[in-house]
Amino acid sequence: MPDRLPDDCFALPPGVDWTPVDEALDLLRAKLTCVTATETIALAEGAGRVLAEPLTAQRTNPPHANSAIDGYAFAWSSLAGGETGDLILIEGRAAAGHAFTGTVPEGAAIRILTGAEMPDGADTVVLQEDAEASDGRVRFRAPRKQGANARKAGEDAETGAEVLPVGRVLTPADLARAAAVGITDLPVRKRLRVAVLSTGDELIQPGADPAMPGIFDANRPMLSALAAAQGYEIADLGAMPDAANAIASALDRGAAEADAILTSGGASSGDEDHLSRLLTGAGDMVTWRIAVKPGRPLALGFWNGVPVFGLPGNPVAAFVCFLVFARPALGAMAGAGWREPQAFTVPAAFEKSKKPGRREYLRARLDGNGAAEVFRSEGSGLIGGLSWSDGLVELPDGALDIRPGDPVRYLPYTSFGIGP
Ligand code: AMP
Ligand code: MG
Repeated sequence: MPDRLPDDCFALPPGVDWTPVDEALDLLRAKLTCVTATETIALAEGAGRVLAEPLTAQRTNPPHANSAIDGYAFAWSSLAGGETGDLILIEGRAAAGHAFTGTVPEGAAIRILTGAEMPDGADTVVLQEDAEASDGRVRFRAPRKQGANARKAGEDAETGAEVLPVGRVLTPADLARAAAVGITDLPVRKRLRVAVLSTGDELIQPGADPAMPGIFDANRPMLSALAAAQGYEIADLGAMPDAANAIASALDRGAAEADAILTSGGASSGDEDHLSRLLTGAGDMVTWRIAVKPGRPLALGFWNGVPVFGLPGNPVAAFVCFLVFARPALGAMAGAGWREPQAFTVPAAFEKSKKPGRREYLRARLDGNGAAEVFRSEGSGLIGGLSWSDGLVELPDGALDIRPGDPVRYLPYTSFGIGP
């Protein structure tokens, strides 16, 4: 009896024919540009939208020097270098929105509240809890330096300064930033429209009798939600059987309604891989055999001029390929530029021997000590592991032996813009 052939004997040797992840990403990055038109929206509607132009400050913020605390304002020079102050408390008060119109004389102080404009003659504020006011005088320990507790005019922004760059995906903080410098309307990119299609004869839809043979379509709600979380408008193309004409008419609809099409399933070169065959027929098709696990293959092509990201059918592979390839590509098309997720180096809480030739993404989460633990199985059909995980551990293309405590690269889902 001959020896049994090793399982992976038909796998290509590393480096031959398989595109490394970084090379694939470089190609996408070089090719994809913004495809969305611009529109103007109210500032309050701006969260998650992509700036189409840089924003410049319409005015200086804060417009005047003001107090950072409740206390007493005075001229630093009144202390004459002493460690304590004993100043005349003048009549009147400076409060936010109610400036004191007089001048604070040398040797005197005035009651001041947070946000009040610094009155003429005063440059420093002492905290009310550090001061004692009685009989028309205020006594206190001197603050540490001149200008203490006073905010300078323009310390946040000067009129005309760029406060937010083009391509910025606006955060809640950015809305505050823009509002504070007098901006009311935002020039933004229209939302990218993304069509989502599932393919496979085995797919059944929610509500189908669970006793039916078949696989419930898990990819479509997942991919739709992933794209929606990036701020895109979703066009649902449904699920199509493995039949060329059905898939072709769904792609026609997607190309008419969307800027990009995400499909899952049928992307390999098997008999029933119609997606890949259709895109090849339409020209311009590249089946990327990317050296990634889970993942291969990824079919990239154009349908009526609209880019199609043909993701693998396995839900875990579809999820990972969306995050690694489709997300940055769609971001570039949406005008946000090419964005890398923020990665963290953390200790491994697992052990693994990795062969060379493929980059690997493991479903992971941080344990109580901040170390990355990985899901019990690497099976790419195990959707439970996706739910279980909070991020991915990215292992480099080369061979690697990981022991507990070794540093690994952890990409939390939140740094892809998804997650609780
Ligand atoms: P394929 O890429 O079409 O060869 O599919 C690979 C595996 O993923 C098969 O086991 C499919 O049944 C499964 N699969 C494909 N599409 C979906 C889907 N929409 N939801 C859940 N599983 C799917
Ligand atoms: Mg299939």
